[in-house]
Amino acid sequence: VWDNCLSFIKDNIQPQAYKTWFEPIKPVKLTNKALSIQVPSKFFYEWLEEHYVKLLKVALVKELGNTARLVYIIKMENTYGNKKPFTEKIPSANRSNVKAQEIDVPIKNKSPELKNPFIIPGIRNVKIESQLNPNYNFDNFLEGDSNRLARSAGMAVANKPGGTSFNPLLIFGGVGLGKTHIAHAIGVEIKDKYPEKTVLYISAEKFTQQYIESVKKNTRNDFIHFYQLIDVLIIDDVQFFSGKSGTQDVFFHIFNHLHQNGKQVILTSDKAPVDMQDIEQRLLSRFKWGLSAELQTPDFETRVSIVKNKLYRDGVEMPNDIVEYVAKNIKSNVRELEGAIISLIAQSSFNKKEVTIELAKQVVEKFVKNTKREVSIDYIQKVVSDYFQMDVSTLQSKTRKRHIVQARQLAMFFAKKFTKASLASIGSQIGKRDHATVLHACKTVDNLSSTDKQFRKYVEDLTKKLSL
Ligand code: ADP
Ligand code: MG
Repeated sequence: VWDNCLSFIKDNIQPQAYKTWFEPIKPVKLTNKALSIQVPSKFFYEWLEEHYVKLLKVALVKELGNTARLVYIIKMENTYGNKKPFTEKIPSANRSNVKAQEIDVPIKNKSPELKNPFIIPGIRNVKIESQLNPNYNFDNFLEGDSNRLARSAGMAVANKPGGTSFNPLLIFGGVGLGKTHIAHAIGVEIKDKYPEKTVLYISAEKFTQQYIESVKKNTRNDFIHFYQLIDVLIIDDVQFFSGKSGTQDVFFHIFNHLHQNGKQVILTSDKAPVDMQDIEQRLLSRFKWGLSAELQTPDFETRVSIVKNKLYRDGVEMPNDIVEYVAKNIKSNVRELEGAIISLIAQSSFNKKEVTIELAKQVVEKFVKNTKREVSIDYIQKVVSDYFQMDVSTLQSKTRKRHIVQARQLAMFFAKKFTKASLASIGSQIGKRDHATVLHACKTVDNLSSTDKQFRKYVEDLTKKLSL
C-alpha cells in the first residue's frame, strides 16, 4: 500500500522534496485501514503535516478508500547515552503538544486524481476543476528585475482576463525560474477575482496525452468542445508540442476559438518563440500576437529575498551569513535554491546540529553536484552539430573532412566527460566507431585545446552550452 502511495506522491512533487521528505519514512503496519508510518523526528512530522498532508490524504484515499487513516510514529532520539532506540506513538489525547496524530481522511475529498482534469465526453454541463495550486500565488512570488515584466504582465492579465492586449500571454525562461509558479498565480488570482470564470491549468504534456487518448477513443470533437468552454486556459511548457503536429493542429483550433471569443490564453515555454523548433509557423505567429515576457535568472538580492521569504513562511530561522552563502552559490535556478535550503533545514534537524557555514558548504556542494543534469549522448551530438551547423548524420558519417572530424571528436570527448558511458558504448553511438577511436578523440581534444586558441574556444563554448 505504502509503495503505491509513494509512487503517486512521487508523480506529484519535485524529486528533491520527495527524496528529503518521503524516502526516510518507514511504513510500520496496516490495521483496519489505518496505516502507521514512522518518521525520523517531530520536526519532520510537523513539516509533513504542514506541507504534504493533502497529498498524503489523496494518496491514502486512493489506496484504502474513504475510511483511510494515517498514524504517525515518531522515532525519538535517546539523549541519555542509552543506545536502545525507542519509539513513541503519540497518544491521540495529547493534542496540545503535537497538532494531530491521527488524521481522519474526510470522505468529501473530491477527486483522487490531482493531475487529471476529468473530461466526460458528451456531457455539456461539465464542472471543470481548475487544477490550480493555491500555494503558487503572487504574494509569494518575489519581485526583482529578473521577473518584473512577466510578473506585472501576469497581474494585468489577472485583473482583466481577455481584456488586455496580452493575449496570449507567453512567459518563457529557463528551468526553475518560476514559469509554473506565475502560471498558477495568474489562475489563482483570476479565480479569486472572478469566481464564475472557468479557469484551467494544464501542462502541455497532459494536454497532449488527453488529445491522443481522444483520438483513440474517437472523441476528438468532445476534446475540442471541452476546451472551448474554458474562459482562461493556461498551458504550461508548450515547447512540449514540438514535433507533435496533431496536437499543434488541435491546439490551433482551440486557440482561435478562445481568442475570437475574448477568452484569455496563458502559455509558458522554456524558449522564446523565435527559438522554438518544430512548431508550426501559424502557431508561432499566434504566440507572438500578445506579449512574450522573459523570466531571467534572479540577481543576488532577489535570491536572498526569495530564501528569506521561504524561511519566514516555514517558520524557520537561519543566520544571515548562511542565507547569503547559499544565495551566492546557487545562482541559476530558484528550484535548486529552495531545494538546498530544504535539505539544510532537514539535515540540521535530523542531526540536531546548528546550521553552520560548514554544513551549508557541504549541502551546497552536494546539491550542486547532485543536480548537475545528466546529459545523454544523443543530446551531446545534437548540441555539437548545432554548434557547427551540421546535421547529426554528417557528424556521424565516415567523412574525413577536417571540421567534421573535429566536431565528431568533440562529441566523443564530451560524451566521455559528461556521461557514464564506456568508450565502447560512446563509439558505437557516435557513428559506429570502436573504443580506440574514442580514446584517441579524447586525447586529441585535450592536446588541441592546450595548443590551439580557436579550438579551446570551441571547447569552452560547448562546455557552457552542455552544462546549462
Ligand atoms: P519553472 O516552471 O520555470 O521550471 P517553477 O515555477 O517550478 O519553475 O519554480 C521553481 C521553484 O522556484 C518553485 O518552488 C517556485 O515557487 C520558486 N520560485 C521561482 N521564482 C520565484 C520567485 N520570484 N519568488 C518566489 N519563489 C520563486
Ligand atoms: Mg515548470
